[in-house]
Amino acid sequence: MIMKFTILTLFPEMIENTMSESITGRAIKNGLVELNAVNIRDYSGNKHGQVDDYPYGGGAGMVMQPGPIYRAYMAVTEGKEKKPRVIYMTPQGRTFNQGIAKELAREDELILLCGHYEGVDERVIEMIVTDELSIGDYVLTGGELPAMVVMDTISRLVPGVLHNDTSASEESFSNNLLEYPQYTRPEEFMGKKVPDVLLSGHHANIEKWRKEQSIERTRLKRPDLLNEG
Ligand code: SAM
Repeated sequence: MIMKFTILTLFPEMIENTMSESITGRAIKNGLVELNAVNIRDYSGNKHGQVDDYPYGGGAGMVMQPGPIYRAYMAVTEGKEKKPRVIYMTPQGRTFNQGIAKELAREDELILLCGHYEGVDERVIEMIVTDELSIGDYVLTGGELPAMVVMDTISRLVPGVLHNDTSASEESFSNNLLEYPQYTRPEEFMGKKVPDVLLSGHHANIEKWRKEQSIERTRLKRPDLLNEG
């Protein structure tokens, strides 16, 4: 299975440079994830490359025009029988979480639209956008970081991207629990020892301890998750 991300953006290099690093970079190299960062400015339709204009009704800032975004969308979906979901990254969207990531990981292609300035002309949102996602209740300068947050989270759910696929199913937010504490070498660090059970080699006890720790730290740090289950 290969997961394809098409990102409509004014800053394709920002996306390409970041996503070509580390685990997402390896996934792209290994052909498990495909990234197509499309420059909306290439579809400006005028020789100045203009993609934004003043808001009707007045007010601060500039608004991204509908034409360049619509033409970019038409170009990337041309000839496709099944149109991929188009996700507009916006502080007004549903707040992204692991559950939404799992649901989106079932798609084989996603288009992520990054806004800038004061946002995007409402008409093109009505015409092409199927989902709106926010990464939290704060306002960033553009949709590129949010799009990369979404792409990174979904990519690591694609089979084969993580060396050990069980790590995605055991970690925080799977089953509405936070992950248990993790330790590595050395066995003792500045007088602090790794819990004995982890050195015991007794798998059933280790599993039991981890499960208890998971529940306990969820109760302490994120009790709201326990009520969601
Ligand atoms: N004027 C818009 C509003 O109040 O809803 C905010 C525009 S913001 C300055 C510019 C762009 O950044 C947005 O179009 C969106 O793509 C992106 N953005 C900003 N904060 C975001 C967030 N929390 N989640 C997702 N995208 C965000």
